[in-house]
Parts: sequence; structure tokens; C-alpha cells
Amino acid sequence: MISVQNNNALKQITFAALNTDININAKMKDYYCPNFEGCQLLNTNQVIDDQKQKDIYRAEYCINPELTWKNCKRYQTRVALNFCPDFVLPDTKLSPAEIMNKYDEEFI
Ligand code: SF4
Repeated sequence: MISVQNNNALKQITFAALNTDININAKMKDYYCPNFEGCQLLNTNQVIDDQKQKDIYRAEYCINPELTWKNCKRYQTRVALNFCPDFVLPDTKLSPAEIMNKYDEEFI
């Protein structure tokens, strides 16, 4: 049987643990690309279906304490053009303008 005193201590410990989780999650969100939840590369198999390669991109760009998502060509293209074609990968060498031209040639 748990005494009232021990029960209160248990509640405090639980609350402290929850608070720590919330703080860690809030801090980690800074590491996440703003497109993380909607990115077709991460959330579908349309862009690539190789899970190992997805995991590599995720670690190198999408969730990274050095905010390397800013260097992701998919992120840059989405900011520049307001969308990102599926053929664009995080390390694609084309500029957003070249990506737009390629998109126009292939799909319009
Ligand atoms: S870093 Fe690039 S690949 Fe990763 S979620 Fe952002 S836009 Fe998508």
C-alpha cells in the first residue's frame, strides 16, 4: 500500500519526468526541418522507396542539430517555388530555376 506522502512524492517525480520530456521535445523541434511532417520524401515512397537511403537523408538533413535542413534542395525548392517536384532529392545539384525548367520540360 502506498502512503499519502509516498503517493505525493510519486506524483512529483512523474510530473518532473513529464516536464523533462516536454522540454526535450520542444528543444528537438528546433532541429526539425519545417517541412518534416509533410515532406513527400519522408512520408511516402513516391520520391524514393529505399528506407535505408531515407534514414540517411533524415539524419543528414531533416533532423540535425546543425540545422542542415537549410541546405536541403527539397526545402530550398519549396521555399523558392512553393512546391517541390518528386525528382528533387536533398542533395540534388540543380538550382531551383533549373529544377523549374526541368519540371516544365517533363510535365508541361
Ligand atoms: S530536410 Fe528536405 S527531405 Fe528532410 S523533411 Fe526537409 S525538405 Fe524533406
